Amino acid sequence: MRKSYPRLYLKRGKEDSLLRWHPWVFSGAIHHCSETPADGEIVEVWGDARFLATGHFQRGSIMVRVLSWQQEPIDQAFYAKRIAEALQMRRAIGLTNEAFRLVHGEGDYLPGLVVDVYGRTAVMQAHSVGMHLQRMLIAQAVKQVMGEAIDTIYYKSDTTLPFLAEQPGISGYLIGEQGGLLSPQSGGAGGGQGDDVACEGGLRFHIDWLRGQKTGFFLDQRDNRRLLEHYAPGRRVLNMFCYTGGFSCYALRGGAQIVHSVDSSQKAIDLTLANVALNFPNDPRHTAFAEDAFRFLERMEEGAYDLVVLDPPAFAKHREAIHNALKGYTRLNQKALSKMPHGSLLFTFSCSQVISKEAFRTAIFTAAAQAHRQVRILHQLHQAPDHPINIYHPEGEYLKGLVVYVE
Ligand code: SAH
Repeated sequence: MRKSYPRLYLKRGKEDSLLRWHPWVFSGAIHHCSETPADGEIVEVWGDARFLATGHFQRGSIMVRVLSWQQEPIDQAFYAKRIAEALQMRRAIGLTNEAFRLVHGEGDYLPGLVVDVYGRTAVMQAHSVGMHLQRMLIAQAVKQVMGEAIDTIYYKSDTTLPFLAEQPGISGYLIGEQGGLLSPQSGGAGGGQGDDVACEGGLRFHIDWLRGQKTGFFLDQRDNRRLLEHYAPGRRVLNMFCYTGGFSCYALRGGAQIVHSVDSSQKAIDLTLANVALNFPNDPRHTAFAEDAFRFLERMEEGAYDLVVLDPPAFAKHREAIHNALKGYTRLNQKALSKMPHGSLLFTFSCSQVISKEAFRTAIFTAAAQAHRQVRILHQLHQAPDHPINIYHPEGEYLKGLVVYVE
């Protein structure tokens, strides 16, 4: 018999959201605990006299992240079952040939865990102490499910759990020590340096999981990049906040007349240049600028681009920042819109989880009004389907975008 998990009892009337399968328990809902759990420990949540859920405990506003609605051990077999279900869904939608997100937190019933697969390497990221403490058995479960398809698992949580950043084991290889993606095209750049080449949409990208942001690449824009490719022929494209140059490569393949990539980070510009060179060596259509977005838009000539991408970092990371973030989105979009020619297209995004679709759309409305432009919505965009949204956890919807036709 395994040791039973500590029990957290809810205050009367605080069961409802759990009964509707919302996977978070907030601190205000907790009445008392059978014993004091440590951060990251597995606990059972009880209401009155009945069991409700099993999850990871962590002090803070979200006190429990629910892993299961049953009383069951949270062990390697549990993770393997969940991860196998996640893989099955990706297979069902035909996504497992290239780079894909295998586990998307609450969207795969594993709050606090992200796993991205790049060729033969999986990059794992914990957003909770509980996932961090169980990282080794989760890595084994990933390997168990993926089998020979992967040979390397890199764990990277120094940025997602900054309060543990000094601890040993917060980032590093859990399985295999070499970059696993070595392919003829990578020129041997991998091999333990955390940089290798993976495919997305038939294009090749250097993925730098050691030094890159998040797990090294943004897979959530995959479908939106394809849409941009469709509109690219003959257009002069500005890819603002380009990071690894994903949109730029799709625009070049789509037949854009010119593509300008802008990012304030020199590292991002280097990655963009490397990725463009990998797919379109010596292509004179592409130029990259390491410059602040607002400065670039300020000095940008009127009518210079007829397709503009604005994909900034999250302007709001928590609720208190919403107001200022919306002002930021408005200002950014107003600056771009005011200089875009008649008949041009704007692809504009927000990846702030706390900014709703409606609020973002209002920010674009305000930007258009301030720029005195007629604007029509052609597409409403969101994260790719390997970033699924658990319908009982609407907070999982974070990426939203609009494609607007500017007159
Ligand atoms: N569009 C990218 C993801 C963008 S991530 C993709 O498809 O992969 C956001 C990027 O914005 C980062 O690379 C960051 O370096 C850059 N950035 C942040 N602040 C900026 C600023 N003020 N001006 C220009 N780029 C900025």
